Amino acid sequence: MSISSPSTEQGQIYQNFIGGEWRNSHSGETFASTNPAHTSEVIGHYQRSTAADIEDAVEAAVKAQPGWAATPAPERGEIMLRTALLLEQQKEELAALMTREMGKILRETRGDVQTAIDVAKYIAGEGRRAEGETVPSALPNKFCMTIRQPVGIVGIITPWNFPMAIPAWKTFPALLAGNAAILKPASDTPLLSLKLAEALHKAGLPSGVLNVVTGPGGSLGDVLVSHKKVNMISLTGSTEVGRRVAEICGRDLRRCALELGGKNAVIVLEDADLDLAVESVTLGAFGTTGQRCTATSRVIVQKSVQQAFTDRLVAAAEKLRVGDGLDSQTDMGPLVNTGRVKAVHEYTAIGKLEGAKLVLGGSPLTEDGYREGAFYKPTIFTDVGPYMRIATEEIFGPFLSIVPVATYEEAIKVANSTEYGLSTAIFTESTRLTFRAMRDIESGLVYFNAPTTGAEIHMPFGGMKASGNGHRELGADAVEEFSETKSIFISYPVRK
Ligand code: NAD
Repeated sequence: MSISSPSTEQGQIYQNFIGGEWRNSHSGETFASTNPAHTSEVIGHYQRSTAADIEDAVEAAVKAQPGWAATPAPERGEIMLRTALLLEQQKEELAALMTREMGKILRETRGDVQTAIDVAKYIAGEGRRAEGETVPSALPNKFCMTIRQPVGIVGIITPWNFPMAIPAWKTFPALLAGNAAILKPASDTPLLSLKLAEALHKAGLPSGVLNVVTGPGGSLGDVLVSHKKVNMISLTGSTEVGRRVAEICGRDLRRCALELGGKNAVIVLEDADLDLAVESVTLGAFGTTGQRCTATSRVIVQKSVQQAFTDRLVAAAEKLRVGDGLDSQTDMGPLVNTGRVKAVHEYTAIGKLEGAKLVLGGSPLTEDGYREGAFYKPTIFTDVGPYMRIATEEIFGPFLSIVPVATYEEAIKVANSTEYGLSTAIFTESTRLTFRAMRDIESGLVYFNAPTTGAEIHMPFGGMKASGNGHRELGADAVEEFSETKSIFISYPVRK
């Protein structure tokens, strides 16, 4: 059985993966995904699924889940390990497909696939680790322990910016915990989720344990999120969509884990190593074209070093080569689609209206070589007020706001002043301020003298405030998120 139908003149047609089979949608309709570096290039046609397809996927998952949960956890882990080895063999091919599908440069798409491989290996080991704990009882002749059990059926909804890493870092722990899942990838990037399912299936995952259904987020997502047989939703996406999903889950008291937006800040204090700060901000703000949930979107800089820092940063950002991510000379690829170019450009207009000073970029790239793509210039505003829209709203593009402050205290206040709390970095040589910042910064990830991007898969990942709802992914807690904990009390009193 093959992941796609034979290619037609318009490109390949990919099917949903339901109950271990590649299937067309009940709608009989497809939608196209195009290369954002060359928008006339169609990457593939995907099923425009409907509620009936979600119904089929849920039924397949419900049927498969008890048998999967009864499979010993180490055996479940072995399948993850074999998946990692299969993905390793295809790494270059998958990375190139991903670059064509959503635009980020090859170095980054290789990293994305590598993350999936690393998570699979890490989670494989979890299959052999202790699943619960024993705890001394407060009473005589009594034994206490916890066991972990699957939640049941999990709906997984993912964004387009990490097309394989995020589906993988949700799917592997969900399955290792004994759940069956329905994965709905973002419409800009369905292909890598289908490839993930293909690899898991080849590695021996039983039919129906993972199902992938492609289609529009609004209608399809709502059906999945409100389905009575789905016990948990795990979503990574915007805060707006997260709020909607949380409301629906809240009505049914359904478990829901959300990883949402950010407005991540780098604080540059006057004692900072400015070259290191410039290098890190360039990477954090313009890497993945600013489309990481942890991308640097604000720099909060002490006024005494504002000019020196800004001059060096503009000089570094000016050198970035923008282009097709498949070209090894490219530093920054296109945005994910032309709609996003428009959205980012609107923020340039807003920044000007708000009275901030544009010091770099501020327009789409439209000359020869760029005309057919979703390219935007690396953009920097300085003298940004801390409460301006460009300093508080997630823009999700190559767009940076520099906010000057007088003191450490003011820097922390500004850093904590948005609704988000995902990732913050601070550049200082002071041990005293390092420890104070560790305590003071309101975000789930805090970096010292390093970019806001750069999570490691064996560390917990997630945000505070409107960047999530308190869960952490990856790290040792990854499987916990997809498990029910049961407390067991066993009494063995001596018969009188
Ligand atoms: P998005 O919220 O538009 O979409 C995310 C997913 O939700 C997609 O699969 C989409 O189809 C689906 N969706 C849309 N409407 C839905 C609905 N009503 N019900 C259920 N599902 C629905 O986000 P995006 O544009 O794909 O990704 C960018 C956003 O994701 C940014 O805000 C970014 O910060 C965030 N993000 C967060 C993290 C994190 O770990 N915190 C990681 C990556 C991206």
